[in-house]
Amino acid sequence: MTRLSGWGRTPAASASVVAPSSEDELAELLARGPLCARGLGRSYGDAAQLAGGTVVDLTGLDEIGPIDAAGAITLGAGASIDDLLALSLPQGWFVPVTPGTRQVTMGGAIAADVHGKNHHRDGSFAHHVESLRLVTPRGIFDLSAEDDPDLFWATVGGMGLTGIVTRVRLRLLRVESDVVLVDTDRYDDLDAVMAAMVEGDERYRYSVAWVDCTARGARTGRAVLTRGDHAPAGARAPRAPRPGRLGVPVVAPPGLLNPLSVRAFNEAWFRRAPRHAREVPHSIGAFFHPLDGVADWNRLYGPRGFVQYQFVVPDAAGETVRHAVERLARSGLVSFLAVLKRFGPGDPAPLSFPMAGWTLALDLPVGAAALPHELDALDELVLGAGGRVYLAKDARLAPASVAAMYPRLEEWRAVRARVDPEGVLLSDLARRLHLVGR
Ligand SMILES: Cc1cc2nc3c(=O)[nH]c(=O)nc-3n(C[C@H](O)[C@H](O)[C@H](O)COP(=O)(O)OP(=O)(O)OC[C@H]3O[C@@H](n4cnc5c(N)ncnc54)[C@H](O)[C@@H]3O)c2cc1C
Repeated sequence: MTRLSGWGRTPAASASVVAPSSEDELAELLARGPLCARGLGRSYGDAAQLAGGTVVDLTGLDEIGPIDAAGAITLGAGASIDDLLALSLPQGWFVPVTPGTRQVTMGGAIAADVHGKNHHRDGSFAHHVESLRLVTPRGIFDLSAEDDPDLFWATVGGMGLTGIVTRVRLRLLRVESDVVLVDTDRYDDLDAVMAAMVEGDERYRYSVAWVDCTARGARTGRAVLTRGDHAPAGARAPRAPRPGRLGVPVVAPPGLLNPLSVRAFNEAWFRRAPRHAREVPHSIGAFFHPLDGVADWNRLYGPRGFVQYQFVVPDAAGETVRHAVERLARSGLVSFLAVLKRFGPGDPAPLSFPMAGWTLALDLPVGAAALPHELDALDELVLGAGGRVYLAKDARLAPASVAAMYPRLEEWRAVRARVDPEGVLLSDLARRLHLVGR
């Protein structure tokens, strides 16, 4: 048995981990009983673990390429965005959607239908997937949005519960350099940054705001907005620190990230950012994956770990972001990092997270007595606004909230039942949220 957890380091579970190297081995495992797929374990909660059961580590299925003239590439589902970029960037191709870490597998990216800083322009990961191969208890399927759209879209965002993805065909984005030109602007309050984001939707491919959730009064929600696009040929940028060069060797003592230290960090971060800067060259790593520079940074949150709470609300309910930030500031809970992004329209996947509107992600250490109650209150706020919480980040939602936030759950269950009628594909997340039969 191996002790496993998500990136938030809570909750942990012991499971038997197996690492198949072929689809035949996978099919045999599926015939033996319940199991859960796992990539690089970068989902935050309990999506990639199964207490007392079998967890299938897919990182061995990592074959890659080549890239064809139109920029399409076939990859094993265990290949990471890091592996892909190492091959594709020198040839002038970039991953069309990247989350805030490149330590994510193709299978994990499809199962969570991940988004990047360009959702308002380019949609989520699945939008760029031409086809995928799915191993299920009822056989192997080659799927695309055109051939068997129901199973394709149920797999996208389906958190590994419709089958195991073994192979992906992905369309890459042509780039002329490995540099991003970045505009930075500081805003003294939330309304100002949100107005700027709406106004810039059309002009910028990438856009993200870091919000200071510790500031109060007139400065509530002050923020640093960074927006940019790929630079033309010949651009140069300072190198980002090599991933993992810096690291957090041991789990930090409880309380290292307390209201005082988090406030001080947020103050320094805000002051450090230029008020306005234009077209400053950034490396790919510095712009897209700054946290990858520090290995195991999740240990900073101490032995109890942390929760990432990410919600989306429709455009018309944008004031929910303000209410959430104000509520958090009042509660005394502090989020070390708070990230605000714009989403464009969602895709047809019943369990995919993005919808046109605003998404805010908060990192909150576990331990404060007020945390469970405050997050329950945020769930209600989000639900009341017609929004939802991201399953790939979740460790604490209630089943009834999920059913209300994802109203197409029954439709998704019906498609899943076609390929897994006995409920072989399982996870702690699926059990906790009653996504599948109990
Ligand atoms: C620092 C950081 C920043 C992040 N930023 C973003 C962001 O900006 N946007 C975003 O959308 N997400 C973001 N994430 C979340 C992350 O992108 C997703 O959780 C992603 O699913 C993790 O991929 P993984 O390979 O680690 O999968 P795991 O965490 O191992 O698994 C995630 C889910 O995928 C399933 N799964 C894994 N492999 C397969 C497979 N081959 N077949 C079927 N199912 C499979 C698992 O069962 C599980 O349900 C971030 C995470 C971190 C740690």
